[in-house]
Amino acid sequence: MNCEEARNLMMKHFDGELSDIEFTRLCRHTEMCEKCGAEFGALKEILGLMEESGTIDPPENFEESVMKKIHQWEALVKKRREMLVTILYSVFAVGIVLMSLLISYVSQNETLRALMDNMQALSGAVRSVINFSAKWYVFMSGIAHALIQTFITFAKTSFSVFALVTGILLLSYGLISRQNGKKEEGVG
Ligand SMILES: [Zn+2]
Repeated sequence: MNCEEARNLMMKHFDGELSDIEFTRLCRHTEMCEKCGAEFGALKEILGLMEESGTIDPPENFEESVMKKIHQWEALVKKRREMLVTILYSVFAVGIVLMSLLISYVSQNETLRALMDNMQALSGAVRSVINFSAKWYVFMSGIAHALIQTFITFAKTSFSVFALVTGILLLSYGLISRQNGKKEEGVG
């Protein structure tokens, strides 16, 4: 056996493909040849260290554990995204409810109503005192009255609209959540 053949057998040996006869022949050469003996010894040492530290082969369930980690991460991302959507929806719904309540409060507030009445009374006093043109006053107060009425009507109508929109949003969100819940059950 020459040195090149011995080196090939060494490689086969570390791949675990060496027969007993070949191994005996390899050992005989490495015992006689100093160079190959040193090389074989060094290779055995390196291989032993690698096996000890376990860096050659990944653990058996390596792929499984990696996939598990990926799935966990994906689930976390999904959960966070759902949480964000829920928070945004809640903030939006609460905002609309608060806005509706504010408008409702303004349109039904006694003080504001009294102020509006006083404004009308004041405009009457102004009319008599300044002796303004009756037609001009009627025209102007008509506009003022119409504006105030429009504002009150708008506020009341808006409240109904806002309440309705809020109701629809909350209802559709509930339906979507239920639908998603059903899908999750179907998948899982
Ligand atoms: Zn040799």
